Amino acid sequence: MFPIKKNFIPKLKQAGSSFSRFILPPRCLACESLTANQGGLCTNCFKKMAFITRPFNDKTGDPLPYEDAIDDVHLQDKTAYRKMRAACLYEETARRLITSLKYKDRLDLAQHMARLMFLNGQDLLKQADIIIPVPLYKKRLTKRRFNQAGELARHLALQSNCHFHPDILKRIRSTKQQTRLSMHERLKNVEGAFHINPEKRQAIKGRKIILVDDVVTTGATIEACCRALLRDNPCYIDVLCFAKVVDYAKGPT
Ligand SMILES: [Zn+2]
Repeated sequence: MFPIKKNFIPKLKQAGSSFSRFILPPRCLACESLTANQGGLCTNCFKKMAFITRPFNDKTGDPLPYEDAIDDVHLQDKTAYRKMRAACLYEETARRLITSLKYKDRLDLAQHMARLMFLNGQDLLKQADIIIPVPLYKKRLTKRRFNQAGELARHLALQSNCHFHPDILKRIRSTKQQTRLSMHERLKNVEGAFHINPEKRQAIKGRKIILVDDVVTTGATIEACCRALLRDNPCYIDVLCFAKVVDYAKGPT
């Protein structure tokens, strides 16, 4: 046996890291340009990422201009969920990340996006028991091969003490794309589209649920999911999404 020099192992690791950086140099998660570190954004994409930071509305998670600002729009809020949190507004970089995850098979993005969701959703995750993703209809799931909300929820469960339950909530019929529909049409479109897997009913009774989605626009889908879940009497449902559309965030910021 030859003696191993004191700094041999760290130097070997350093050499391995340099080699892997040479073979696979770090790239921006959103635009794939070269960056300094793995798993981050380039300066340009970072500037176009509208992170939601405090102060925000405690119920909806929407950003507020200053602490104690009264959010008139949500004073009359009667949504079925208890609280919602989002990592960022749905603008240029967020849209790119979601599109790459959903349509370009960039499953590697899910863990990074979930990490950002975790930061803003910590207060909800600490109190929750189980994490449930907004489900896809089986035809769409077969075509895409994965549920993007499921991937985010799975990584959030790994980062918290919550149990991941991807098969409790089911989408029992296909729904139209919501993009071009009015609020009323959106609610009609998803009404009764979700139900609970009868074999899993017991799992949500009296439990604190986090419902996860990639993007929330009007909240019609979230509302329909909550109504289906509430029939089986959980304690409450909180919502955690990656990006959220709020009135003043329409279009790139
Ligand atoms: Zn970039």
